[in-house]
Amino acid sequence: MKKLVVLGAGTAGTMVVNKLSHILDREEWKITIVDQHETHYYQPGFLFIPFGIYGQNDVIKPKRDFIPAGVEMIVSEIEMIEPEKNRVRLAKENRYLNYDFLIIATGTHPRPDETPGMHNGQWRKSIHDFYTFEGTTALAKHLRTWEGGRLVLNIVEMPIKCPVAPLEFIFLADWFFHTQGIRDRVDLTFVTPLPGAFTKPRASKMLGNTMEEKNINVVPEFMVERVDPDKKVLVSYEEEEVPYDLLVTIPINMGAEVIERSGMGDELNHVPVDKHTLVSPDYDNVFALGDAAALPTSKAGSVAHFAVEVFVENFVRYIEGLEMREKFDGHSNCYIESGFGKGILIDFNYDVEPLPGKFPLPGIGPFSLLQESEMNHWGKMMFRWIYWNVLLKGKEMPIAANMTMAGKWATDKQV
Ligand SMILES: Cc1cc2nc3c(=O)[nH]c(=O)nc-3n(C[C@H](O)[C@H](O)[C@H](O)COP(=O)(O)OP(=O)(O)OC[C@H]3O[C@@H](n4cnc5c(N)ncnc54)[C@H](O)[C@@H]3O)c2cc1C
Repeated sequence: MKKLVVLGAGTAGTMVVNKLSHILDREEWKITIVDQHETHYYQPGFLFIPFGIYGQNDVIKPKRDFIPAGVEMIVSEIEMIEPEKNRVRLAKENRYLNYDFLIIATGTHPRPDETPGMHNGQWRKSIHDFYTFEGTTALAKHLRTWEGGRLVLNIVEMPIKCPVAPLEFIFLADWFFHTQGIRDRVDLTFVTPLPGAFTKPRASKMLGNTMEEKNINVVPEFMVERVDPDKKVLVSYEEEEVPYDLLVTIPINMGAEVIERSGMGDELNHVPVDKHTLVSPDYDNVFALGDAAALPTSKAGSVAHFAVEVFVENFVRYIEGLEMREKFDGHSNCYIESGFGKGILIDFNYDVEPLPGKFPLPGIGPFSLLQESEMNHWGKMMFRWIYWNVLLKGKEMPIAANMTMAGKWATDKQV
């Protein structure tokens, strides 16, 4: 019996076992998936909780509901990966799992403890986050009685998962305080280590303009060194200060500690892999999918989905002794909620930055690329249903895994 072990039953791990369990011969293959938690979180929904758009129950379901019959699920912390011995050590009963092939899908998560002054007595009082379930629910409670002041949204360091979520948060905050009738008492500031609002120049310009229209201050190229929780200021390495009354931070995102313990990660504990095949350069039976992988594209559920699609076809060839053929192109597709019932959509890959146009049907849409529209907002809101009912279960989506130029308005300069 050949053994496939998948580490992490989040978005990527759940999708890949669903796809592979239908393809691999059950008489020949044993598939095991390991995760430390029983609960699956719909992380894109964390954005909406502080503003009362989603409640807690909209974003949680049991992981087991999404693990297909015939796949073994073990709930345990993963202690160590021993790639030289083709085995993984679990915390539960000190058990070892041997494997023929290993897929690492342990994600990335916020580490407020990495920034001096952040994770202290003011954590979840005047300093909040919305990238975790606990963080977003605490912030929702805080905002219910907050009477206004300086709200600073800050990204400590890139890469972070869903690099558009901080923008969406500040756009929704603008809308929320308008509806609360206190926008004139709230000063919104977006503090980023990037030169502009986003990682890609053209989208950054468009999103920067949207910030200006909404009267949101942008402080670019601000490298946070520490937080002074008593003075309530963010301090940069150049000793510049940004004062706040309420800090909503996106702390440094780091891969799982087990990656560091196992000596398999980069400086942020993300796993280096070939960007087209997702194979480890050091071990040809080890792959990384989703946020755990160190790839030069966004860390996003959409990227995990497209990468899984390409990977599965490739894996089936690989185990039959063939060369990997399908090449992952870094395809990312993100709806950006921009407030007041509108949204923006961006679609890009390793080589092509977000361009204007229509998606998915060229010339028709119904979604508009790099442009605000109500339809884009509905795309974002529909996504939760699609996530629980189609994506996680590994069902087919009518969107190509590799990015297409059809429907995009390109100029020579952009491609
Ligand atoms: C606020 C927010 C908004 C977002 N919005 C969007 C969006 O609009 N669109 C989009 O495409 N993406 C969005 N994302 C990103 C998306 O949620 C992630 O990219 C996606 O979930 C990554 O999937 P993953 O499987 O790689 O990691 P995860 O889904 O995070 O899964 C990792 C799993 O590994 C497990 N694990 C880790 N370490 C261990 C260990 N040592 N032992 C056992 N188990 C372990 C964890 O428990 C977890 O279940 C958003 C994220 C956030 C936080």
